[in-house]
Amino acid sequence: MKAFVFSRIGDLREDRNPLELRVVPDPNPKKGEVLLRVLVCGVCHTELDEIEGRTPPPRLPVILGHQVVGRVEQTGVGAGRFRIGDRVGVAWIYSACGTCKFCRSGQENLCAGFRATGRDADGGYAEYMTVSQDFAYDIPEVFCDTEAAPLLCAGAIGFRSLNLTGLRDGQRLGLTGFGASGHLVLLMVKHKFPGTQVFVFARAGKEREFARELGAEWTGGPDEASPVKLDAIIDTTPAWKPVVEALSNLDAGGRLVVNAIRKENSDQDYLLKLDYPRHLWMEKETKSVANVTRADVAEFLKLAAEIPIKPEVEVYPFEEANRALLEIKERRIRGAKVLRIS
Ligand SMILES: [Zn+2]
Ligand SMILES: [Zn+2]
Repeated sequence: MKAFVFSRIGDLREDRNPLELRVVPDPNPKKGEVLLRVLVCGVCHTELDEIEGRTPPPRLPVILGHQVVGRVEQTGVGAGRFRIGDRVGVAWIYSACGTCKFCRSGQENLCAGFRATGRDADGGYAEYMTVSQDFAYDIPEVFCDTEAAPLLCAGAIGFRSLNLTGLRDGQRLGLTGFGASGHLVLLMVKHKFPGTQVFVFARAGKEREFARELGAEWTGGPDEASPVKLDAIIDTTPAWKPVVEALSNLDAGGRLVVNAIRKENSDQDYLLKLDYPRHLWMEKETKSVANVTRADVAEFLKLAAEIPIKPEVEVYPFEEANRALLEIKERRIRGAKVLRIS
């Protein structure tokens, strides 16, 4: 099969083609697994964190990609959950141990044995991939393939982030950064919390314009103070400055949820501006979001189909995976990016 193979960690600005299109052996489904013919795969900022070594794959080479929509081509021994031809999705969670205290209490995202699709196991930047049938999801009919892909990570992690804010209808929500996940959170909030106003902080004028189109109450740059204090903020940026600025925009008792697998360190000094009375006092909280559970993905797909939430997508031919990644790096983003594979 053809696959984009990732084999060397480096700075994407220096090495603009970190993935190589190669012919590699087709994977075979093991016991309990299904073989998928990949239709589309979403492109996520987390791929940049892998390529640049902030969350490096434990073995190289590896095939990246964790927002996979495919059709079941073959089933392994004991894998009877899906039928040949079924359309299924694969998300960031590839497997978890199933027995630790986290796995037993609905927090498999925190499992020490958590394995991620496209990092700890080969993912969807390829014509075929295998996955345990227990870690695959039915894709609701209402979505075409390209619409479904971003729901599997950007949407599911946005759903988890929004749940972690503890937001109630009518409270004010801020979003710092407005990429694939941010735009899906905004669409979700419009439905779940119709009385909530959303304030978007984004660097690019295009991102701010897009946020207003989707119904943001107010938009501004990353340095701007919001016109009113906010009850919760979700940060999806790779930087530190937005974290500090978000804390000053939070109201008393407010919560900042940081949805980033890793932060880049180029502006880490900005943390020295952290001022206890201004940023932390008055019971302000900060919480990170780590990975997703299967329940997050399944519940979000169900909610997204009911509303329905249709993500705004930019589709790239498979051969242009490196270009799509570079555009994320350069924040040339409107909605979510998806590779069409077959
Ligand atoms: Zn992702
Ligand atoms: Zn576990």
